[in-house]
Amino acid sequence: MEDRGLILVNTGNGKGKTTAALGVVLRAVGQGLKVLILQFIKSGNGYGELKGLELLGDSVEIRSMGKGFIYYKKNDVTAETLAVHKHAAQEAWHMLIDEVNSDQWDLIVMDEINNAVNYELIDVNDVVTMLKNKPRRLHVILSGRYAKDEIIELADTVTEMKVVKHAYQQGIKAVKGIEF
Ligand code: ATP
Ligand code: MG
Repeated sequence: MEDRGLILVNTGNGKGKTTAALGVVLRAVGQGLKVLILQFIKSGNGYGELKGLELLGDSVEIRSMGKGFIYYKKNDVTAETLAVHKHAAQEAWHMLIDEVNSDQWDLIVMDEINNAVNYELIDVNDVVTMLKNKPRRLHVILSGRYAKDEIIELADTVTEMKVVKHAYQQGIKAVKGIEF
């Protein structure tokens, strides 16, 4: 039996990156694993998964550490906004390193971390170093669009969500319980 923790990446432009990670969390909790979810980029407590995960009790902990959503086109973001996000991402990063090294978790979900790397809020080399040095038994899931090649190379399982259709394209805004 392989006892090595796996590295999973959920990327691509279709819906399902975060929710697939949460599906694994549900499965992991059912098998008695201890799970930590760190949300980069996202902030606030309006997310259904935050409320849902609370119902799962002590096996899972979720922390939102972002400063809200910054949009895909880097050029649209002012220097000031970027600085705020950068600060939040760095704090989140230090917490991530502490939690990884604590060796008290069986699975850590790093939600939207790929976006944080893509926006240069977090250095890809730091992520690579973390993945290479993580406790052997620890499983990690890195989600978010634009996963870097260096991270994909290190991963065991990589899934690219591809958008075929999205309700948003019909003008249907984010739906409670489905999107958040
Ligand atoms: P989910 O959280 O539903 O699994 P995701 O993690 O794959 O989605 P993100 O890139 O994190 O998607 O996008 C954040 C929000 O945008 C989510 O509410 C998601 O449902 C929605 N979304 C995902 N893909 C698309 C798309 N192709 N067009 C419009 N909205 C999308
Ligand atoms: Mg997501």
